[in-house]
Amino acid sequence: FMRHSNQQHVSNSETLLRDLSLASRQLHVELSEEEDFPLVQKGLLMLCQSQEGLDEEAEVAEAAHRLGLEAEVCDSARLQELEPNAKIKAQGGVWFPQDCHLDPHDFLEALRSRIKKNGGEIIHTQVKSLIDDKGVVTNTGEKITAETTILAGGIDTLNLTKQLGLKLPMQGGKGYSLTLPSPPRNPHLCSLLKEGRVAVTPMGEQLRVAGTMEICGSNTSVSKVRLSGIIESFCAFYPEFNPSQFSELEPWVGLRPCSPDGLPYLGRIPSHKNLIVATGHSMMGLSLAPITGKLVAQLVDSETCSLDISALNPTRFNSP
Ligand SMILES: Cc1cc2nc3c(=O)[nH]c(=O)nc-3n(C[C@H](O)[C@H](O)[C@H](O)COP(=O)(O)OP(=O)(O)OC[C@H]3O[C@@H](n4cnc5c(N)ncnc54)[C@H](O)[C@@H]3O)c2cc1C
Repeated sequence: FMRHSNQQHVSNSETLLRDLSLASRQLHVELSEEEDFPLVQKGLLMLCQSQEGLDEEAEVAEAAHRLGLEAEVCDSARLQELEPNAKIKAQGGVWFPQDCHLDPHDFLEALRSRIKKNGGEIIHTQVKSLIDDKGVVTNTGEKITAETTILAGGIDTLNLTKQLGLKLPMQGGKGYSLTLPSPPRNPHLCSLLKEGRVAVTPMGEQLRVAGTMEICGSNTSVSKVRLSGIIESFCAFYPEFNPSQFSELEPWVGLRPCSPDGLPYLGRIPSHKNLIVATGHSMMGLSLAPITGKLVAQLVDSETCSLDISALNPTRFNSP
């Protein structure tokens, strides 16, 4: 991770991540139209309470412009004009108009429906081991053979690749979310709270507040201190809310599959040519899900991939 925390690696990766994100955005739009679920295309606000934070984000906006992306640096009045539904306490921020948001349940429901419509079958089971690259054995001992097996088990994918002697370095990046069922005031734009490191997403009547990135292996215990940090930061940026509104809510915990270079693992494994790995998307797994699916389909069909994904090679951390 330390070896990749430098400007050179960011410069090498930003074009690919932009192209993956824009292609995925387009596929999200198409899927939401075809499967008729809401995808809100109103953009995202990065909110800053300190001048230092705002200066940093203005630089990010410049970098976005260099990549051909839209970004508008806003003062507090402009922020409030863009978000009339809730009072914002921030010195300024950046509006990224191309961002979208959705309810992950709607998205997964749409995918399930699409799989079934196309004749696919969804089997809920635990995979215990791989039959080399010819299928899997479940925890009940059932063997399921396949022409191609796609390993997309998030952080747990590494338990399966270990069996092949393949190094797929990943750490769980733990995060929490809390969802208010129907707050009296609900912002209509999603936002990231710079100094609070919190993400705020309206989902219909609901409002989801999420945050933290604890590098934790596979430990899913809940830190009460970090949870209250998320709530306090949110209420500091959105002063019409108060911490007592969150007191009865059950937190959700998730592990982001984080690779050391911040790039997903996507591709075939040369030593096991019928296995495809698709994981390691860290904070971008939902955003990049549709393009990941499309690229996996192209790999399965032995078509040329629509984007050059050589940098995502799942064996890149293995010695040749
Ligand atoms: C708080 C929080 C907020 C986030 N916000 C965003 C966001 O705004 N936008 C975004 O794009 N991303 C976001 N993410 C990241 C996103 O959730 C992940 O990138 C994404 O879930 C990774 O998808 P995945 O399918 O690779 O892994 P997972 O979502 O972890 O899914 C893997 C699945 O494989 C199953 N599995 C694993 N091993 C086995 C096995 N042996 N047998 C059977 N099944 C198995 C697991 O049970 C699981 O269902 C957020 C994450 C967190 C924690």
